[in-house]
Amino acid sequence: MATQLPVVEFEKIKTVHQTPLEEFYTSGHRTCQGCESAMVMRDFAKASGPRTIATGATGCMYVANTSYMTTPWIIPWMHTQLGAGGSSAVGMAAGLRALMRKGRIPKEKINVINFSGDLGAADMGIGGISGALQSDYDLLIIMYDNESAANTDIQATGSTTYGAQTTFTPPGSKHRIMHRRWKKNMAPMMAVGHPTCRYVAAASATFPALDFLNKVRKALAIGGPTFIHTFDPCPKGWDYHPKFSRELGELGVKSGIFPLYEIIDGQVNYTYDLRKKTRIPVRGYLEKQGRFAHLIDEDVDYIQHMVDKMWDEWEIPGVAPFTSGLQIAAS
Ligand code: SF4
Ligand code: MG
Repeated sequence: MATQLPVVEFEKIKTVHQTPLEEFYTSGHRTCQGCESAMVMRDFAKASGPRTIATGATGCMYVANTSYMTTPWIIPWMHTQLGAGGSSAVGMAAGLRALMRKGRIPKEKINVINFSGDLGAADMGIGGISGALQSDYDLLIIMYDNESAANTDIQATGSTTYGAQTTFTPPGSKHRIMHRRWKKNMAPMMAVGHPTCRYVAAASATFPALDFLNKVRKALAIGGPTFIHTFDPCPKGWDYHPKFSRELGELGVKSGIFPLYEIIDGQVNYTYDLRKKTRIPVRGYLEKQGRFAHLIDEDVDYIQHMVDKMWDEWEIPGVAPFTSGLQIAAS
């Protein structure tokens, strides 16, 4: 019998016409044309509304959004160090709680949201985020993942796709593939390791439409510490024309290389369930990006094999690779 998924009450945006018109991340930034991470910023601010405070770790979404004397942020925003996303959110939430307890500010729901890039969240800041997800504060961490340290000119991170060219991993005549690490499985790691964190999700800003907005709203409605990992095509780092950003997000999801799901109170709910749909070949996703131009057929086949394995053989497809029953004989 299928497990009953918990019912979550939240103000769902059902159609494009219900999308709030107010913008809280607006003009005044210098992100590249077609930047999906900027869409993540715009959407989370739109979904969470004016009673929100954001903290942002160093990364593209810090640097490109804080040119001298300009900012796109309408909501209060604070910069924090590259690896300090989790602790900045805890500090902000703790400060608000103390002020409310002392009666200095009215008791009300104020959303605390940290955004950290893949280097800031999955690599340098993973300890602080783990601490935040173990706390009892109301906070949401959004890891915006453009699969590189884009702010400092596209260096590989633990989230970069296998085989990609970055400034740390340029293909050469002797070694065609310099990036041989498989992408870190960040969101499930956060879900598995933090039993009192009730909501973890993986999302794309623009595909399926409205999905990310609603995941932000759901995370904030469930409350406590929550985590969302977003998949952000980056024209500069991934080397494609900016007009294809949304399409690349869609191809990444439909090929299965970036699974979309929510984990609510330990139950997995697939947003785009590739156990039931036909996956498109990863080649269609890879060949649209210059960072994979050096791959040959056997490389593409390897990536396809790994994606197939993830969906066909993992204990929880796309989420958890564990299997049970391994016997190890003692000597
Ligand atoms: Fe966005 Fe990538 Fe440009 Fe950074 S480098 S602003 S992530 S498109
Ligand atoms: Mg990055």
